[in-house]
Formats: sequence, structure tokens, C-alpha cells
Amino acid sequence: MTTKYAFFEGSVVPIDEAKVSIMTHAFNYGTGCFEGIRAYWNETEEQLYVLKLREHYQRFMQSCKIILISLPYDVDEMCKTTIELLQKEAFREDTYIRPLAYKAESGVGVRLHNLRDACAIFATPFGKYIDKEEGAKVGVSSWRRINDNAVPARAKITGAYINSALIKTDAMMNGFDEAIVLTQEGHVSEGSAENLFIVRDGKLVTSPVTDDILEGITRTTLMELAHKELGLETVERPIDRTELYVADEAFFCGTGVQIAAISEIDHRPVGTGKIGPIVTELRDLYFSIARGEREDYKHWVSPVYAPVPAV
Ligand code: PMP
Repeated sequence: MTTKYAFFEGSVVPIDEAKVSIMTHAFNYGTGCFEGIRAYWNETEEQLYVLKLREHYQRFMQSCKIILISLPYDVDEMCKTTIELLQKEAFREDTYIRPLAYKAESGVGVRLHNLRDACAIFATPFGKYIDKEEGAKVGVSSWRRINDNAVPARAKITGAYINSALIKTDAMMNGFDEAIVLTQEGHVSEGSAENLFIVRDGKLVTSPVTDDILEGITRTTLMELAHKELGLETVERPIDRTELYVADEAFFCGTGVQIAAISEIDHRPVGTGKIGPIVTELRDLYFSIARGEREDYKHWVSPVYAPVPAV
């Protein structure tokens, strides 16, 4: 299955009609923001569940606010439009949804003000992000994370992803699966496009929101699950580079990457070098909730299709 439609210029149109000019401001200067949302196919229920739909559009609106984009839609309308687009696509497999808001005006001149804003959404079938979800080999990047006073990482800004692209490609060219990137001050920030947790002495530790991370929805979700379901607290505090080398477990999380265990950092095994018990438990929990298999967490997922009537 491939993408057939998009929400573009206010309505759902065939994907081939959803085109922008090379003169578009956002194409020239990266003046847009976006979201990445996943929907999970539940074969038993023949249902597609969108995970944390509202939370993604709440963050989308925050990104818009930071880069002075104003849209004629609110969170509820964006959620509704997304569900309608997915119904039209009729995917019966795991799907990735990409909303975009951008400076749509044609012409030259770097700024954010006095420019026409637009919004678009497309969806596409999508599987794994990192091949080795069972244990990625990771290096600390020689690139640094963008700083809040230069390019805010808290907003999911299209142009900011050149930082992620430099980090990711450099890591792969150096033989790693992913990278961990440090802040300008030298603390651990996150992965190229995912948040990071380590386990030390039975506690989860993750970088604080003030260390130039994207305030990940999966990150918040896992902190809540760890607390409620595993009785584990998460400490949000600055992390030193060498704490990575002595961690018992380490893993990435994010909508795209889902939950990916890290088996090696800078050629040193993480813990035993095998996928650890905490990440394993969190991952199983996360996938069952995402696929709508847990009644007690059904409010975290939004069904796309009308339920199939019981025979
Ligand atoms: N950090 C960055 C830079 C990202 O691009 C992403 C993916 N959106 C994340 C973290 C994870 O965020 P989320 O869990 O909200 O997908």
C-alpha cells in the first residue's frame, strides 16, 4: 500500500496534487514544523489505532507558536482531519502520519513574520526505523545538539533536522547504527531523532527538558508506564558522557524508533551487551498498548475505523 491522498490547502486531495513551488519559503529556509505520529494495526480487531494523537497535535501547536505559524485549525480539528485522511487511505498495516505546518509564501527574504502559513498531512505505511531494535551499536557524535538560544530543539522545526541528518549520517558512515549527541556544554542530550534513557542502580535516568531535547511524547509515556506498571521512578537530570559507559541498560525511544535497546556505546558493551530486563518489559508493554490490546490504556489510542460488529 502506498500513499494516495493528502490533506492540502484545506481539503483531502490526491497525493499528486499536493505540490508546492520551489519558491516556497519553507523549502528555501526550513521555516516549517512537523509531527511524526504512528498508527498501529490490530489484526484481531481489524482496527488501526493512532497512538497519543492529541498529544502530538498539542506539541504541533507549540512548535507553530514558537516559529510564529498560525493555523485556522485547533487540536480537535487536526485530530479529526487526520482520522478522516486515514479512513480514506484505508491502510491495514502500521502507518506513519506526517503533519506539516509551514511558511507557504513564495519569494525571497528570511523572516517569520508577514508570511502566509499553510498546513498539510500525509500518511504512509511504515515499519521499523532502526534495523537492530534488539541492540543498536551507537557512538557519541562529534556534532553537537542545536541549542535552545539558536535553534530551539523543543519545537519540531523542519530546518532544525539538518542537525539530526548530520548526526545520523556521520554515525552510519562511521559504522554505527545511531548516535548519541551532546549539548554545547557537553551533557548527553538525545539521539539523532529519539530520546534516550539509561538505567543505573535500578533507576531510569533521562536528560532534562533543559538539555536541548525534543520533549518526546514516548519519553513521557515511558516515564508514566515505568512508574505505574513497573514501580520504577525516572530521574530527569543532566547525564555525563561516561555515565553511558557504566549504565546497566540504555535505550532510545520515540515515535519513529519506538523502543530500541542499545547494546554498545563507543565500542563498550552496555551492561551484559544483551537486551536488558527493563527495556524488554517496557517495550512489550508499549507495543501492547499501542496496538490497543490493553483495555486499561484504550484512552491512549484513537480508533480509525468503525468497530467490526461481533458475529
Ligand atoms: N528527539 C527528536 C530530535 C525527535 O525527532 C524525536 C521524534 N519525534 C524524538 C526525540 C522523540 O519524540 P516522540 O517520542 O514525541 O516521537
